[in-house]
Amino acid sequence: METLRKMQVLCDYSQYDICDYSTDIKRSDINLPGIYHTIANSCKIPIFKVLMTNKCVFDCKYCINQSKHKFTRLELEVEEITKVFLDYYQKNYVHGLFLSSGIVNSSNYTMENMIEVARILRKDYGYNDYIHLKIVPGASKESIKRAMPLADRVSINFESATPDGLSEISSTKSFKKDILRRFKWIDSMKKKNKKFAPSGATTQFVIGANGETDHEVLASIKSFYKKLNIQRSYFSAFDPVDGTEFENKEKCSSKRTTQLYHAEALINSYKFDVDEIVFNKNGLLSEDEDPKYLSALNMSIFPVEINSAPINELLRVPGIGPKSASKIINIRKKMPFKTVNELKRLGVIVSRAEPFIKLNGDFQASLDKLL
Ligand code: SF4
Repeated sequence: METLRKMQVLCDYSQYDICDYSTDIKRSDINLPGIYHTIANSCKIPIFKVLMTNKCVFDCKYCINQSKHKFTRLELEVEEITKVFLDYYQKNYVHGLFLSSGIVNSSNYTMENMIEVARILRKDYGYNDYIHLKIVPGASKESIKRAMPLADRVSINFESATPDGLSEISSTKSFKKDILRRFKWIDSMKKKNKKFAPSGATTQFVIGANGETDHEVLASIKSFYKKLNIQRSYFSAFDPVDGTEFENKEKCSSKRTTQLYHAEALINSYKFDVDEIVFNKNGLLSEDEDPKYLSALNMSIFPVEINSAPINELLRVPGIGPKSASKIINIRKKMPFKTVNELKRLGVIVSRAEPFIKLNGDFQASLDKLL
């Protein structure tokens, strides 16, 4: 089968690895397989994203590529990937590579193929742009050590937030041994050499494939960020695949993953504790209301004084983000704010913030109206 045809199929089968947050990754207008947009270092860049193979010895029950699923298996050679990628890159279709793979033969054999693609691009062709390498579960310390200097970013998919959750999904992957331990190695390698994967490590969760709640997912994320220095998490809504063990399970709504992205930002960028986020009695986020707004309604700190509140309180005001909170702190040292229009000019969404703030002691809108 010609390379582009194989690539088209393998890009379609890489769906399990494509998070469904449209502002993060989406198919570009160019009608060629494998081109998506991603965010790296706060910039949106077109990347070439492909699976090296849809063969896999693991049995993740939701995954189209799992070992027991009967369908056509394909594999791209190292040379095929480097050739197509360099062609896309030279034509300016993409500025980066995201390389992933099903696990063929063994975790280390798979890693060797991915490392070889990155090595050829960096060493033989002098390619200096973005490379994201997937570290497969169970990869040896040695292979991770060789992948890290070649990659801008690395990731391992947790898939589940807890060991019990993962055992619902897979009988072949160990949460602690195959994933957690590998993240610890990555963290310690990065601490020893800052040039290793300078854009950091990320992870991904499949939401709705097991019984885990949003509370469990976010509590694990908070702890992973603190202990393993993971930069961020991506979420993919479970969608049943015919012919897999989970074919009759209910599809997960994309509203759920959208709200998880909002809540993840509260933990990651706004430094919220999980206890400050509002969940229903089943441990799920509201699918309709913004998690930050719901949290604010439950907090006793409001209204906060814009001209004196500490940054952690400003960050809890709906309509104030990390950038506008920093600007408020810097500007008010020189001159106190007098009107909400001055806040608007900094990017504050005043209509959301007004009920939660005071300016020089004056309420801007009544919080009671919201309740
Ligand atoms: S490791 Fe699991 S999720 Fe990844 S390709 Fe194999 S079966 Fe799918």
